[in-house]
Amino acid sequence: MKEIPKYLDVAVVGAGPAGSAVASELARRGHRVGLFERDRFPRDKVCGEFLSPESMDCLRRLGCYDAFRAHQPPAIECVRLTAASGVETTLALAATARGLSRRRLDSMLFDLATRRGALAIDGIDVRRLEPVDARHIRLHLRRHVDGVEHNHRLTARLVVAAHGRRSHLDRTLQRPSFHDHSPFVAFKRHHRLLRGGTCPPLDGLVELHAFDGGYCGVSFVEDDIVNVCTMFDRRLLRSEQAASPARPFELIARQNPALARRLKTLEPCDTETLAVAPISLASREVTCDRILYVGDAAAMIAPLAGDGQAMALESGLRLARLIDHSFPAPPVGPWTSTFHRHYRRRLQLARCLQHTLIRPLPADLGLRLLRRLPRIGEALLQWTRSPAVETIGTTYRN
Ligand SMILES: Cc1cc2nc3c(=O)[nH]c(=O)nc-3n(C[C@H](O)[C@H](O)[C@H](O)COP(=O)(O)OP(=O)(O)OC[C@H]3O[C@@H](n4cnc5c(N)ncnc54)[C@H](O)[C@@H]3O)c2cc1C
Repeated sequence: MKEIPKYLDVAVVGAGPAGSAVASELARRGHRVGLFERDRFPRDKVCGEFLSPESMDCLRRLGCYDAFRAHQPPAIECVRLTAASGVETTLALAATARGLSRRRLDSMLFDLATRRGALAIDGIDVRRLEPVDARHIRLHLRRHVDGVEHNHRLTARLVVAAHGRRSHLDRTLQRPSFHDHSPFVAFKRHHRLLRGGTCPPLDGLVELHAFDGGYCGVSFVEDDIVNVCTMFDRRLLRSEQAASPARPFELIARQNPALARRLKTLEPCDTETLAVAPISLASREVTCDRILYVGDAAAMIAPLAGDGQAMALESGLRLARLIDHSFPAPPVGPWTSTFHRHYRRRLQLARCLQHTLIRPLPADLGLRLLRRLPRIGEALLQWTRSPAVETIGTTYRN
């Protein structure tokens, strides 16, 4: 059992892509950093597991691109969009994207943080944050070892809150976003492709099937596994929450004929279907005293953009650089303005695209337009993406 110190320069809450990126970078720059994750790795997570081309830049910056490629994540060059009306179109991505399960990606990034020198501990829950004085903040942590509960307290100069889209910590921090009532639920399951079906090949593609109230992404991750991840308005479930793990997929298959054909070519390889709710895209504050929010905890981009992981990695790298420059003072102003400058427009555009795609008539008209003018679609895809990250800092080699 790793010992918890009494003092840290920076404590990072949550080891998703954002938290691990911040912790790795700060540790590499010589800060005393702790990275605390509630789950135990390796673990699965609801996600389309599509890593946009911009994520590749971030992984290179972090110095783990070779380790990432060792998992042989399949290349994705195009996106195939289908609407419930039967219209479909295929758009080229500006550069190669890849698919890797969160089980692999998050474990890899967590290990990287450890190797860089962060005190990275999983299976530990940050229960509460409490200001001590004008310069320090106290963390209350809890973990279970051999069934015995252990409570710990430590003091840090700064806290990076990278706890994702929703955590009980948001309630204790009294963030209004915790009480946002979004109607969206999401489900994910891994599958094997049954060869010889009537569907177009899936190799090199991510499919996005739209329907009234939601959409479903289908693409390969490592080891010939196909990830199916869907997000839709909970009203579609009606009273069926308690039904079988296959039920969400049966329901959405009825909404879009191309999706129904695709799902017939797949057989589940997971016995469980992972589910999360609610998926709120509500705006959140980016800083609060000595707490700096990053990744989904700062703002969640509509999953349809397939850019959440890149944004988490990239915002983590940016924040680490600002903290390094201003430590021990929190970079409150610079972080707020950096965040809004780089992400506000992308967040709005992705929300707008999602809004269009989950309505049958706009989705049908939109896809007809994109069939004629694919350049518009490709430009829209690009505008939801991170710009090149040269400005973030130097690349660190393994
Ligand atoms: C349905 C759906 C599909 C998506 N598809 C894609 C996609 O295809 N491509 C893409 O790029 N993005 C996708 N995303 C978005 C992507 O999953 C997120 O943007 C990304 O995971 C954000 O990373 P993060 O590090 O900010 O948060 P997270 O990955 O959520 O990590 C936060 C971590 O904090 C931990 N934590 C929470 N509370 C505490 C606590 N109190 N103490 C300790 N640890 C805590 C959690 O256990 C978690 O591990 C999708 C999202 C959804 C909902």
